[in-house]
Amino acid sequence: TVSAISLDYRGRLHTGTSTTGIFMKAKGRVGDAPLPGAGFYCDNQVAGVVTTGLGEDLMKGMLPIRINELIRNGATPQEACNQVVYPFVDALYQRSGHIGAVSVIALDKKGDWGVATNTAFTFVVATDQLAPTIFKAERGKNNTTVIDEK
Ligand code: ASP
Repeated sequence: TVSAISLDYRGRLHTGTSTTGIFMKAKGRVGDAPLPGAGFYCDNQVAGVVTTGLGEDLMKGMLPIRINELIRNGATPQEACNQVVYPFVDALYQRSGHIGAVSVIALDKKGDWGVATNTAFTFVVATDQLAPTIFKAERGKNNTTVIDEK
């Protein structure tokens, strides 16, 4: 899945997801990417949130809508990602013993962003202050590492 969130010059948030689904998927499988609340959520008063990872897990987690609610109630995007993603992946692992990839990005109305993952992924941030810059997010590290600057 490739997902994107933008905050435009009028202060409007946008989210988009594009995916091929998973390898050897069953015919007719939909996955999380097109499902509001599961693969993405965009609330123009609050934040945009997008995911990538194993849809079967992401559809149970409904992480984007939950992260959005925490941001609405005052959490920063990073706090909200941490509070929703890590308990979810830990509970999933305890219940089923499997580790599917779960990764999220959130961007709020002010332009603050956060990420969380139980694996690792790369993402790009571009603002009027920052030229497109590649970051790497990894679980177990408090912050993300810039791996390239263009
Ligand atoms: N989330 C997608 C799906 O399960 C797969 C992916 O993120 O690569 O359909």
